[in-house]
Amino acid sequence: MMNTQMLMKASEWTAKARMLEEKTANLEAMVRAKNESAEKIRSVVSFLIAFTRWMKSPSAYIEGPLVRNFFEAMLGATEVDFDAVRLTAVYCDRPENKFMVNASWNDLVNSLTIIASLTKLSSDFPGATFAGYKFAGINVQQKELDESPEAELVWFCGNRWVVVNFVAWRDKSFVDFDVNGICFSNEGFHMKNSGAVGFTDALEGIMAREASYVKRVDILQNNTFPTEKAVNRTTKQKWLGQIYDLISNKWLKIKQAGYTIVGKQPDMFIEKEEDCPITGRKPNYPCVNLQCGHSLSIMGYKGIIAANNEHTESVKCPMCRADLLIKFCDVKKSRVGWNVPDLPSTVPENSYKRGTIISRSLVSPDALEGL
Ligand SMILES: [Zn+2]
Repeated sequence: MMNTQMLMKASEWTAKARMLEEKTANLEAMVRAKNESAEKIRSVVSFLIAFTRWMKSPSAYIEGPLVRNFFEAMLGATEVDFDAVRLTAVYCDRPENKFMVNASWNDLVNSLTIIASLTKLSSDFPGATFAGYKFAGINVQQKELDESPEAELVWFCGNRWVVVNFVAWRDKSFVDFDVNGICFSNEGFHMKNSGAVGFTDALEGIMAREASYVKRVDILQNNTFPTEKAVNRTTKQKWLGQIYDLISNKWLKIKQAGYTIVGKQPDMFIEKEEDCPITGRKPNYPCVNLQCGHSLSIMGYKGIIAANNEHTESVKCPMCRADLLIKFCDVKKSRVGWNVPDLPSTVPENSYKRGTIISRSLVSPDALEGL
């Protein structure tokens, strides 16, 4: 079922990739024989296949942690909850065509809204059913003109459910971490930004439980504080806002999924004892080390960027007034690659039971509110 045939299609694959393919195919067969949740994986994959076909757009794809989770599950790398699946489906990866996209997007959303209301009116109405998942509802988010419109779609199958965050368009290179760069489309699995990260590199990362930033946080920071010319505050806020976005929510999610972040990266840690001296939030919360030697909670970092001070262009460390420059460190890849110990020959019992892949328990509820 899963992806053996689709994987074979990719002609540029190396011998390494074929080796992995064999391993995953074997493991999948083992999982299927021994573990009831193989059925759940199959049911979700069937849903994905049916749904990507239904999207029809030649450039439509499904992205995000769920796709990575499939490989994790097949490689025995983690517990994944396939009873409650949340994924992002992208209708088109060419934002320059968004006006064209908008027309067909509106048709799609309109027809789904009608199906949703008919489903509510009559329990006999079959609705939009994909691979046994019955359509239950749609919630459309209105956006500004230039922003990609979104809709949240919900499907049920028995006591399992799938929530699809459906996005009209997204830039092809919209990837933060290499292991999240794999996407699933009518053509099978492939990399979204084929230039930056290779498919086998991403799979190696999943096997080794290592991820690295695809976006260069150091370059964003260099743009904000160039040596030769001053940058105005609005521009600073824009670049630093992007840094904040990467080091807050996304950094946490990938850490919470059990990954070591490798490569050049912000020097970060989780504060577990002291309250945040700037925001007063309780531990645990993530902090970033600055080049001036001070450290700052990322809630504090956000506060400094967002503060509206029209009298100064500066964005400074609150302790010593040096430029707000993050310190970087470089974590080496383990180079486990293809000489890793063999995949386990037996699948541990209950290895696929409910997990908390996107749980954010690294951080206290109080700090979470301030993120
Ligand atoms: Zn300082």
